[in-house]
Amino acid sequence: MKQFEDRIRQDGIVREGGVLKVDSFLNHQMDVALFQDIGKEFFRLFGDSGVTKILTIEASGIGIACITAQYFQCPVIFAKKNKTRNIAGGVYTAKVESFTHGKVYDVIVSKDFLKPEDRVLLIDDFLANGSALQGLISLVHDAGAHLVGAGVCIEKAFQPGGDLIRAAGVRVESLARVKSMTPDGGVEFC
Ligand code: 5GP
Repeated sequence: MKQFEDRIRQDGIVREGGVLKVDSFLNHQMDVALFQDIGKEFFRLFGDSGVTKILTIEASGIGIACITAQYFQCPVIFAKKNKTRNIAGGVYTAKVESFTHGKVYDVIVSKDFLKPEDRVLLIDDFLANGSALQGLISLVHDAGAHLVGAGVCIEKAFQPGGDLIRAAGVRVESLARVKSMTPDGGVEFC
């Protein structure tokens, strides 16, 4: 999505450690008109896949997933970052290592909302090392549901997540693939 790449170039800020800040339009202040274009594009890519649920992870994926779900006309589930050590019954759980905070979380989804008959599309803001998507993939597998694929807004292609997940046979569609970032703020796309 050329217009999305232009926006990243214009408003994205490159931080140390390979972090791209897109707080002004994607994951703090949210440009809802842009989210609509993103949702339409995910629908163009996955609209014929019979998606029954969109699964994302709190917090940054939720807004994008909700706008996208309006095109698919299906519910959104967000995996919750579980803060207690004792995980309540009735949930699927997976471990996710946060790229930006370096912590490992358990993420949980209630068994009530993910069923074997579901066809699940994963949505997230970023794909970096792949831990968030791998956690979501394992929740879908545990539920015995069908994984349609993953829609990612920004894939940092210089990190291994995209290759790892595609090599596992999952369809990953990224709207912008960042090839490299320089400390002076330069962002190059694939
Ligand atoms: P992964 O699990 O693929 O390593 O990282 C994906 C998750 O980390 C996303 O859910 C996203 O919230 C966060 N993340 C990864 N890289 C970046 C980045 O460069 N900038 C921001 N803002 N978040 C990132």
